[in-house]
Amino acid sequence: MPIRGEVRQALLRTLLKHGGVVKEFAAGQQVVEEIADQFQLTEVTEKGFDQALRISRIPAAEKNFLPIKSFEVQKVVKKLVETQRPTIYEPFDTSRKRIRKLRETTLRLRGFRQAVIEVYGYRCAACGLKINSPDSLCWEVEAAHIVPHASFGKDDIFNGIALCRFHHWTFDVGWFALLDDYTICLSPKLSRLPADFGRAGRYELIRSLARRSSQIRLPTGRQFYPHENSLRWHREFVFHR
Ligand SMILES: [Zn+2]
Repeated sequence: MPIRGEVRQALLRTLLKHGGVVKEFAAGQQVVEEIADQFQLTEVTEKGFDQALRISRIPAAEKNFLPIKSFEVQKVVKKLVETQRPTIYEPFDTSRKRIRKLRETTLRLRGFRQAVIEVYGYRCAACGLKINSPDSLCWEVEAAHIVPHASFGKDDIFNGIALCRFHHWTFDVGWFALLDDYTICLSPKLSRLPADFGRAGRYELIRSLARRSSQIRLPTGRQFYPHENSLRWHREFVFHR
């Protein structure tokens, strides 16, 4: 008979592998649920998630790249995905100017990241890159704020876009922006860069975005598209003309 601690560890490890919710297990669901109930593990809480990471020796820094949602984060994601697209949209979260609890901010950010990468199908909206780690635990793609978090940009789908790490950085520093029709617009300052900048061997990593002169890869539902007010703010205050 395995000892209680071993069962708990095995369960937490399995939770990590299966997306974090015991209820979603297909095989042996009833048995797993019974065991999980005994250990109060029916849903993964943030605390259980942290424990599972420690047991599986996954560095805490990787937490944000795991496609697993704790119970708390799932609630945030559900709320974000189900929010109706507003007719009048203000991309700034003025309530955040009041100091929020760290835990609340962390949950909101994790929920934001998860909701955004999910609606973009885990793909970079700029180049289409979609890749996860060999153990299938982490996705490469990130959720970028269009109006940055530091400028009180909202943590919602309308102010978010999924980008690979390179395009996230190039977007944040203003090498490219998006027009209202979601086509990519490159900074004219690129032409002043030395020819070998922004390249990897034969591949033009930034300039090729404009050559396609096509729309970004948008989410499946129109209600999830980035809001024009966020894009306009980014063009005005971040993009280099
Ligand atoms: Zn990309």
